[in-house]
Amino acid sequence: MTQSLATMAYIGAAILFILSLGGLSHPETARRGNLFGMIGMTIAVLATVLGPRVTPAGVPWIVGALVVGGAVGLYAARKVQMTQMPELVALMHSLVGLAACLVGFASYVDTSVAYEGAEKAIHEIEIYLGILIGAVTFSGSVIAFGKLSGKIGGKPLLLPARHWLNLAGLLVVIWFGADFVGAASVEAGMTPLIIMTVIALLFGIHMVMAIGGADMPVVVSMLNSYSGWAAAATGFMLSNDLLIVTGALVGSSGAILSYIMCRAMNRQFLSVIAGGFGTAGGAPTAAGEAPAGEVTPISAAETAELLRGSKSVIIVPGYGMAVAQAQHTVYEITKVLRESGINVRFGIHPVAGRMPGHMNVLLAEAKVPYDIVLEMDEINDDFPDTDVTMVIGANDIVNPAAQDDPASPIAGMPVLEVWKSRTSIVMKRSMASGYAGVDNPLFYKDNNRMLFGDAKKMLDEVLLALKG
Ligand code: NDP
Repeated sequence: MTQSLATMAYIGAAILFILSLGGLSHPETARRGNLFGMIGMTIAVLATVLGPRVTPAGVPWIVGALVVGGAVGLYAARKVQMTQMPELVALMHSLVGLAACLVGFASYVDTSVAYEGAEKAIHEIEIYLGILIGAVTFSGSVIAFGKLSGKIGGKPLLLPARHWLNLAGLLVVIWFGADFVGAASVEAGMTPLIIMTVIALLFGIHMVMAIGGADMPVVVSMLNSYSGWAAAATGFMLSNDLLIVTGALVGSSGAILSYIMCRAMNRQFLSVIAGGFGTAGGAPTAAGEAPAGEVTPISAAETAELLRGSKSVIIVPGYGMAVAQAQHTVYEITKVLRESGINVRFGIHPVAGRMPGHMNVLLAEAKVPYDIVLEMDEINDDFPDTDVTMVIGANDIVNPAAQDDPASPIAGMPVLEVWKSRTSIVMKRSMASGYAGVDNPLFYKDNNRMLFGDAKKMLDEVLLALKG
């Protein structure tokens, strides 16, 4: 393939990536967006493998890597459960970071292209920054993977003088950067490069370890953005325009997503990075710490009765719906209620579940019509006019303490005001807290009922009672 043909293919792929991102902005067009992305990536890979920069001797290596990488990807995609998607995404971000580091070291020791003067300095700065971003992305994403999969606790690690530690790390990185750029030989430059890499790896670990459970959505989107910048840095090191464009697209869309997530949690980006919001996740509430009031249980049959007698119902899904895989039964119940003339809508919190858009993906999979799935801002004022709100495996996103208790670790986070409806029914298995590890006073309110059990099992019973 000639250079001009490869360039044209790259431009085509870049356009398809932009169309892909545009499509992914709405559930209705997301499928098409994914398709554009897949076609774009196929063109990009083919144009690179068949392009003028790959020598015939390199082709078997590339094909071998494609087969191995493709097989691992296919296996992971087939095997992964929907609830493990956030961990998988974090793991993939870590691989982008690792690739940037490896490419950085490889281009530094590669002496086949001789750079001189300003060009040499620019190339070295590219390498230094590329490895810096790559190393932070790699270690940060590995820790995020650990936190999202529950292998590492959600409690923030708040070292004394941690901000000073970070600042000292930054200054040392700049100091060694000056040493690295313009080093007399590859051997001389290797020491500052390795020291910086170790500091960057430690910084990535420290940054994500310091982040509390409730801030994880911002971290996930932030690492998404970092992985984009790491890919762009790799593009600079390899002089590959498409990688630069693609990396910049991922980097900037991830940055926009981080901004949206910060707004959804009413948090400043810098205070998220400083860490500490939310505590250990998922621990059952310790005796004596519970908010005042009594918990009123309800049965599946009584729930069906309440639903049947309503005019307006709002369903609020959360992470537990994903765990229970209850979305299909939720849809069946929605259908039955709508057929009896009941107005059923869904209220989606921006950080519900464990990844951005988690609930939208599940509901779309179950074929719930998009027009009854509303964002928090669109539906929050409607709870006072709602007869029954069914909270399915959600906890933090419906916690009134965020509004009422200034001392709460999630104070200030916008939440779905389900307690304002005539009756709220919370479906979960126990009194355990959610990801942020915070007690939920909603469970003790007079107009709240608790339907204890696995969400899928309980909803199956509700559906049976509704049909009966
Ligand atoms: P939560 O984690 O607050 O609560 C989920 C609840 O689901 C738990 O309290 C659990 O209670 C219940 N549950 C678990 N399994 C089942 C089951 N099989 N059947 C019924 N219930 C079940 O989830 P939310 O969606 O309310 O809030 C999301 C939280 O995750 C927020 O704190 C957010 O910051 C955080 N987060 C979000 C990310 C994102 O990008 N969206 C990324 C990372 C974190 P029980 O054990 O008693 O059943």
